[in-house]
Amino acid sequence: MINLDDGNIQTYSMNYYDKMKGKGKLLNEYDLLDRTADNLLNGKKMIDFLGDTKAKFKSLVKELLISRIDIIRKNYAEINLYMMSAEFCQSANSDMKVELHNIKRGNLREKARRHFIESRISTEYGENTWLKNHWLNSSLSKVCKSDDELKIFIQKFTEKFNKLNNFVKKIFFYDQLENVDKNLRHEILLQLDINVCPYCNRNYISKFKKNGELKSSADLDHFYNKDKFTLFSLSLYNFVPSCQICNSRLKGTKIKGIFHPYTQKIDYSDFCFKLMIEKDADLSLFFGGNVEGLKINIVHNEKYKDHIETFQLDSLYNIHKNVAVEVLLKKQTYNQSYGHLMDKIFSDLNFNETQKNLFLYGVDLEQSNFHERPLSKFVFDLMDPL
Ligand SMILES: [Zn+2]
Repeated sequence: MINLDDGNIQTYSMNYYDKMKGKGKLLNEYDLLDRTADNLLNGKKMIDFLGDTKAKFKSLVKELLISRIDIIRKNYAEINLYMMSAEFCQSANSDMKVELHNIKRGNLREKARRHFIESRISTEYGENTWLKNHWLNSSLSKVCKSDDELKIFIQKFTEKFNKLNNFVKKIFFYDQLENVDKNLRHEILLQLDINVCPYCNRNYISKFKKNGELKSSADLDHFYNKDKFTLFSLSLYNFVPSCQICNSRLKGTKIKGIFHPYTQKIDYSDFCFKLMIEKDADLSLFFGGNVEGLKINIVHNEKYKDHIETFQLDSLYNIHKNVAVEVLLKKQTYNQSYGHLMDKIFSDLNFNETQKNLFLYGVDLEQSNFHERPLSKFVFDLMDPL
């Protein structure tokens, strides 16, 4: 829910690239790959997917390590096919259940099965020719005939895809980070310098040194999970510093409907926290009352629904009703009673707008700094007129 600027990734990227290729492992393993293995998805050799010459492979490695994934996807047609296929393998079974849920047996369901596959072949990212080949090489009437046949179709495609991933895994696997430097994971967290989980904007991401060694108390989420999107296991843009709850308990391998904090910006005006106050609610609870009669709602565009549900933001932010009331009381007090006195103090102290907001509300209300402190976006929204 918090947009992140990728400036730190760009600053760190060449350093990261040099480290990863430094020991030569990543690049030299190319020479050991089986050049005869077939890629069942496109009828070519597996090696072609990673580059049919070492020079091409080297340039691909660099892109994969440090370039934006959406840009790589645009520049490399085969990688775009890989992404579409990984998405398909990851979600086809569960999507199928949802899409066919209310469709009765018979012709209608048969048509729905056909539509299910065809819509996965023609996607917003272009035609998935790997899936199309698999479709054309199957007995279409049989695949559409029953749910079980459709499941077999998905399973067989996934098996072909997994073979490609096993090939890719000989070079791109997460443990390479440790092979290069046992502290590299902590170093990445330090270099990306995100202080609060961008998925929830509630929990701190801590980096520190103990006995001279870098430590961290956060996860490095693979936005695209390394099991299906193996090719991006080591991509700097695929690492999202996040809290353990968001990464491990809530997001898991899910990507559908989740906004990538670095590359898919959330429109903050379409995603707002509102405090709903019932008539008889007692705002004096700032001093220790109960929070009944209050509710935190998230007013949002439909496109953020999955994101909000995945991270349970609706429920989790209702824990912070007391913070909401505190903010409103501070705001009222500042506006109505003591504003002019406080302005005088701020002026005497030479406080700028950021310092003033930190003093009053404990957060920086500048949108580009939301990742610095917990609940920044929440407080920012509550500062809107009552
Ligand atoms: Zn979180």
